[in-house]
Amino acid sequence: MVRKLTLTGMVLSATPVNDYDKRLVILTKDRGKIVAFAKGARRPHSQYIAGSRPFSFGEFSLYEGKTAYNLCGINISNYFEDVSADIESVYYGFYFLEMADYFSTENVEAKVLLNLLYISLKALEKKVIPRALIRHIFELRCFAINGEYPNVFQCVSCGESDDIHYFSTKKSGALCSKCGAAQSDAIVLNTSTFYTMQYIISSKLEKLYSFNVSDEVLSELGMVMRRWMTAYVDKGFKSEELISLTANVLP
Ligand SMILES: [Zn+2]
Repeated sequence: MVRKLTLTGMVLSATPVNDYDKRLVILTKDRGKIVAFAKGARRPHSQYIAGSRPFSFGEFSLYEGKTAYNLCGINISNYFEDVSADIESVYYGFYFLEMADYFSTENVEAKVLLNLLYISLKALEKKVIPRALIRHIFELRCFAINGEYPNVFQCVSCGESDDIHYFSTKKSGALCSKCGAAQSDAIVLNTSTFYTMQYIISSKLEKLYSFNVSDEVLSELGMVMRRWMTAYVDKGFKSEELISLTANVLP
């Protein structure tokens, strides 16, 4: 018997299939990443036209098949239109969706990741803090959820917590001035950059986008995240290339 269920989630991607249908990848709270087919979603008067686009967040009613789900109802509560309307924000938004796709798996609940994605898109809409900071907060917090985050609270070699000055990707975290001087890939970071990373990893979700940093800290945070992503993520993101392109063109 085909089972019907309703899942809360967000559309991560939508690709056209057959003549009029769409294949959706949805990040759901209870079942992680799922594939759902929206029949007729590309017909002009389809009830799924708006809700079957990336960023659509809400309730998805589905018939559960053997290998995929079929969409049978949709109730969208947020389309994140302000993200879609701004060319630079939309690249960051798509980058967050690609990252969420990378960090999620099927049949593993994803409540925390879905919440993070939601508040990160909200932060992009509010434009209170720079997009680059939102990006690095999102990246580091994704690793924190996943468990593969750097130890930035103490020296990973000797345990010293008051004198941390270096960061090493190879050692997976912070190093004190003594241990760091002997580590070939270690870079020197501001104390504020360590505090920022500690905050991103440990703060409550609702407080995650409530602070700003100096240009220097933002630049160091970017450097750390680039190194970390290169070491721990085994794929490239299309939207990441677009962010780099616009960063060079836009003021
Ligand atoms: Zn040490």
